Amino acid sequence: MKTSRRTFLISTIGVASSLALSRQAFADAPKVAESDPTAQALGYKEDASKVDKAKFAKYAPGQDCGNCSFYQGKASDPYAPCPMFAGKQVAAKGWCSAYNKKA
Ligand code: SF4
Repeated sequence: MKTSRRTFLISTIGVASSLALSRQAFADAPKVAESDPTAQALGYKEDASKVDKAKFAKYAPGQDCGNCSFYQGKASDPYAPCPMFAGKQVAAKGWCSAYNKKA
C-alpha cells in the first residue's frame, strides 16, 4: 500500500513537472525568423503589412496570425506557436500563405 501511494505521488509529481516544463518551453520557444527556410517558402512576415503582395496575391489587409485558425494562442497574445513552424512562435501581427481565417 505504502509503495503504491509513493509510486503514485512520484508519478504525479513527474506529470506535474513535465506540464510545467512544456509551459515553460512554450514561453521560451524561439520566434520564427523571416530568414527561416520554411518562413521563406510560406512568405511569412512578422508584420503582415510587409507581405509581398505581388507574390502572395491571396493576402488581404486585416488577415494576420492572430485571426488565423492555426494560431495556437489567444488573439491578444503577441506571439504563439503555429503548427506550420513546429516548436516556434509566430507574431500575432504576422502572416504566411497558409493563412486560414478563424471561423
Ligand atoms: Fe500565421 Fe496562420 Fe501562417 Fe501560422 S498558418 S504563420 S498562424 S498565418
